[in-house]
Amino acid sequence: MPITVPRPVPAAAPAPISCETAVRRLWDYLDGGLAAPARAEVDAHLAACDECPPHFDFSRRVKVALAAAGGAAPGDDALRARVRGALRVAAAG
Ligand SMILES: [Zn+2]
Repeated sequence: MPITVPRPVPAAAPAPISCETAVRRLWDYLDGGLAAPARAEVDAHLAACDECPPHFDFSRRVKVALAAAGGAAPGDDALRARVRGALRVAAAG
């Protein structure tokens, strides 16, 4: 499975990114864990894309609901680690 490697971009003009790239950055974006250039790329994509904003909005609501329920659900970290591990395997393969 081919992976898209983010390229360095001039700070003033975010490079266009694919929906796949935007979605891959979704949780880091919502967690505030993205570097400014990557965040600007996602912002620019969300402004131009019809499909991703509802997806991000839904995930943001899930995040808020989890926070309202008293933080991350038990097992959330383990699940996330499993998902990331699987993504790494897919990317490596
Ligand atoms: Zn998109």
